[in-house]
Amino acid sequence: MRIDVVSIFPSYFDGLTLSLLGKARDSGILDLDVHDLRDWTGDRHRTVDDTPYGGGAGMVMKPEPWGLALDALAGSPHAGARERPTIIFPSPAGEVFRQSTARELATRDHLIFGCGRYEGIDERVFEEAAELGEVRLISLGDYVLNGGEVAVMAMVEAIGRLIPGVVGNPESLVEESHEDGLLEYPSYTKPAVWRDRAVPPILLSGNHGAIATWRREQQLERTRLRRPDLLAGDA
Ligand code: SAM
Repeated sequence: MRIDVVSIFPSYFDGLTLSLLGKARDSGILDLDVHDLRDWTGDRHRTVDDTPYGGGAGMVMKPEPWGLALDALAGSPHAGARERPTIIFPSPAGEVFRQSTARELATRDHLIFGCGRYEGIDERVFEEAAELGEVRLISLGDYVLNGGEVAVMAMVEAIGRLIPGVVGNPESLVEESHEDGLLEYPSYTKPAVWRDRAVPPILLSGNHGAIATWRREQQLERTRLRRPDLLAGDA
């Protein structure tokens, strides 16, 4: 998979050289590039924002650098691409990002993320982007961040770990929270007793059927207590 990220703070993404995603990049499973939006400005000050039409507080990201960036990254499909890119703009006004969104996006050939700042990006950029690919406005949750970078970091990590070969043991992905609509069961490791706290005896029984039943009950109980909206199908 190819991922392009456009931001005015590219160094936010230095962390993506670490851990499993860093290894995936080194091995070529994930072809990830981070671009500075200011490289597509034409003035001495490398300006990316201006005052909003109609008045109001804050600044709006100008359309011209975004147009050039998207033309460059989406206009010429990369080698091996089977489809138009999916162009994702993180936004608190977008659809909420879920595990199912990550699963869906992990099947794509080419993702482009455009990180907004200030009051956001000139609306015409989204219309223009739709000429080049499928546009998605995606929210990390119902709160407002200063910029799209942290949201894109979270999305790239959630999507990236679902790409075959990124996580060593694919079975570890199957039993996780949200994969089957429930939260994961509690996990324990050695020692069996720590500060007078014992691991639930069933986990030491060696009875795999009974352990599976216990884990399922724990999943249901946790979900009922912490996230009843998941059981009601509201999420
Ligand atoms: N004025 C915008 C609004 O009210 O919808 C918020 C702009 S916010 C200060 C600046 C940028 O941060 C947004 O363009 C978006 O890229 C990012 N952002 C903020 N909150 C976000 C969230 N919950 N999910 C995804 N991106 C977010």
